[in-house]
Amino acid sequence: MKDTYEFQRIEEKWQRVWEDRKAFHVTEDPSRPKFYCLEMYPYPSGRIHMGHVRNYSIGDVIARFLTMKGLAVLHPIGWDALGMPAENAAIQHGVHPREWTLGNIDHMRAQLKRMGFSYDWDREVNSCQPDYYKWNQWIFLKMFEKGLAFRKESWVNWCPQCRTVLANEQVVTGSCWRCDTAVTQKKMEQWFLKITDYADELLAGHELLRKWPEHVLQMQKNWIGRSTGAHVHFGLEGSARTIEVFTTRLDTIFGATFLVVSPEHPLVPDLIAGRRDLETWAAKTVAGKRMKREIGETEKEGVDTGKKAVNPFNGERIPVWLANYVLMDYGTGAIMAVPAHDERDFEFARDYGIAIRTVIAPPGQEATRYDAEPAEVFIEPGVLVNSGPFSGLRSKEAMDKMGAYAEEKGFGRRSTAYRLRDWGISRQRYWGTPIPIIYCETCGTSGVPYGDLPVEIPYDVEITGAEGSPLERLESFVRTTCPKCGGPARRETDTMDTFVDSSWYFFRYCSPRERTLPFTRKASSYWLPVDLYIGGVEHAILHLIYSRFFTKVLRDFDLTGVSEPFPHYLAQGMVTKDGSAMSKSKGNIVDPDDILKEYGADALRVFILFASPPDKEFAWSEEGLEGCFRFLVRVWTLVLENLDLFAAGTEGETRPGPSSDPAVGLTRKTHRTVRKVGEDIQVRLHLNTAVSSLMEFLNAIRKVKDALRETPDGRTALRRALETFIALLSPFAPHMAEELWERTGRRGLVMNSAWPAYDPELAREELATIVVQVNGRLRDKFEAEPGLPEAEMETRALALPRIQGLLGGRRPRKVVCVKDKLVNIVA
Ligand SMILES: [Zn+2]
Ligand SMILES: [Zn+2]
Repeated sequence: MKDTYEFQRIEEKWQRVWEDRKAFHVTEDPSRPKFYCLEMYPYPSGRIHMGHVRNYSIGDVIARFLTMKGLAVLHPIGWDALGMPAENAAIQHGVHPREWTLGNIDHMRAQLKRMGFSYDWDREVNSCQPDYYKWNQWIFLKMFEKGLAFRKESWVNWCPQCRTVLANEQVVTGSCWRCDTAVTQKKMEQWFLKITDYADELLAGHELLRKWPEHVLQMQKNWIGRSTGAHVHFGLEGSARTIEVFTTRLDTIFGATFLVVSPEHPLVPDLIAGRRDLETWAAKTVAGKRMKREIGETEKEGVDTGKKAVNPFNGERIPVWLANYVLMDYGTGAIMAVPAHDERDFEFARDYGIAIRTVIAPPGQEATRYDAEPAEVFIEPGVLVNSGPFSGLRSKEAMDKMGAYAEEKGFGRRSTAYRLRDWGISRQRYWGTPIPIIYCETCGTSGVPYGDLPVEIPYDVEITGAEGSPLERLESFVRTTCPKCGGPARRETDTMDTFVDSSWYFFRYCSPRERTLPFTRKASSYWLPVDLYIGGVEHAILHLIYSRFFTKVLRDFDLTGVSEPFPHYLAQGMVTKDGSAMSKSKGNIVDPDDILKEYGADALRVFILFASPPDKEFAWSEEGLEGCFRFLVRVWTLVLENLDLFAAGTEGETRPGPSSDPAVGLTRKTHRTVRKVGEDIQVRLHLNTAVSSLMEFLNAIRKVKDALRETPDGRTALRRALETFIALLSPFAPHMAEELWERTGRRGLVMNSAWPAYDPELAREELATIVVQVNGRLRDKFEAEPGLPEAEMETRALALPRIQGLLGGRRPRKVVCVKDKLVNIVA
């Protein structure tokens, strides 16, 4: 047989072997340490893309490496299989969402197998199968029992294109996260999950997430948006009602010159009764683009209601305005406007000619008189002025005292507010988990009895894309009997946001065929938490907050002891080409299938791991890929040219000795590479430098191989280097590694062999000899580990006694360093 590198044949061969032997199957083994390596499960859109290849290649190296290190490694995959695109395919191509989804899954599963990923396929989960989403319903019912799932009428984000409600998290700068259509507002009855009950714990949990990227924690923190301040009731003149505001700056309340109420506020109909002009304005504003209002993109607009509110601190009457820059969702939907000390209020007051009054002076300037309207806004804390009995206090102290005063008088309280809202999960779509609720005219709202789960997604349905849920029009689905009275009743037709599915799938992997619970305590307590979670940073808010929330809820249901599911999250960088992210619209997509055909899975894996660290952007380049392919060909050739070394009876010695002996030199290089590659993978997750160490190792072997073949010791060193190389290569290029392992006569699979050990003495980096010159003449030298920073080289050279003697206490005029070689001192 010819010995060219026939990657296609080799890759198919080993994929078959792995499959036949169930090589990636893993079970709980209390005698071994475990590792749960998880990549975000994909949406089955039809084909895997380079982002997937990168994400999964990173995880696969870690999983294979730790398996060789002797750990029990759980490395599962599944499908986030419910959601909109399947319905769009049904509308556009007339194919049933179920067939479309399952067909895509089959195709993508085959693609993942062609990449050689070491998934335990016995644990595959698929969220569109009733045996999975049954447990969404089960968890929902538990939450319903505890009041964590509830229904209320509310303003919701509505995507006119997708014809469904969106969670706040799914509205990206005013547009639908999926289709980019501008989002509008609608008032609807919706199901919510009470994530706000966990707001404080979600924040506090960040303390445990030390292995998360800082910016991701910051994004979550901003999203939760905890702020401390006070709630204060302003009286409404001529009414028994009050308007409640939340403020983080109670110290500025004497500067409140107007009150602003959101047009969605429940008091608005009273405030503007009989004023057609105001009603029109409010209706128009409410229907507008909410996120634009929220991020301050729209021009600030408002109308004076003519009503007056009374400031409880000083009895002052101030006008009540409606304005688009206040949202019902945040705080109480009303604010006290303090234009002198808040930028938005300042702008608004200037535009509409409302009074501006200074009540906070910069520290040290409180003696100045502040009668005139200020020309600029001052938002820092300071010292109170024009604030009655509180004048002269510093902001912080004033907030405490004024809060206490409000509590004592009964018109306010010190409090905390959050930006986080409860999670609206109702979707008016077909291809989602039916919400297991039944409405009866007599008995009201009931959960579907647990024994009747799952409520299956009916197959026989017409999907036209018309407004409203297709389930709503399916009488056979809607009509049911009430579990309480047995009378006729109606099913809820909303389905769950698919982010519910992905909020707990990592538990399901632990016991994927469990039939009595979503997962067993035994298996999940062995595997969880996930030791390394890898996926795109676009999930920083949605998925990664929801999963943390679900885990805490499941813990409170006593189903798990884990509070934080992902103590280590690696946000993998983007895949780009020609300077921008690969995307259909940019037309710069490289299809993994084409690359598999031309170069094979091993070359693609090596390249995608080599070209940049996992958390950094990765720029696609054909030349880079070719370079990695050539590297593999050189490995192939080198091993096969030296196969004779692996025949019996070539055992020599590896004695410690000078590195100038090429056999000893290569042995040292071998041990050093084992150490370096292991540390790069495990300690630093620098898979790119691990690959470059292998490339260096290859070059080192090639340089000395001919000389080494001449002596018994040399042959032993060479053989050991080669077999070590194959083992180190196997997490990255597993097919080639298996093939070479077999050809060198090793038994079993390299993936099941032990990761090579290294001798710390032999693995020590060789010291560099650094020459020290003074005024161009060699005066001394010292040894140092390679790569010493220049500043450190300089310090060490100047500390040498001979050099100190020569300098006689004077500082050198100049020092020039050449890394690992030379320090030149100009005295
Ligand atoms: Zn949309
Ligand atoms: Zn009933």
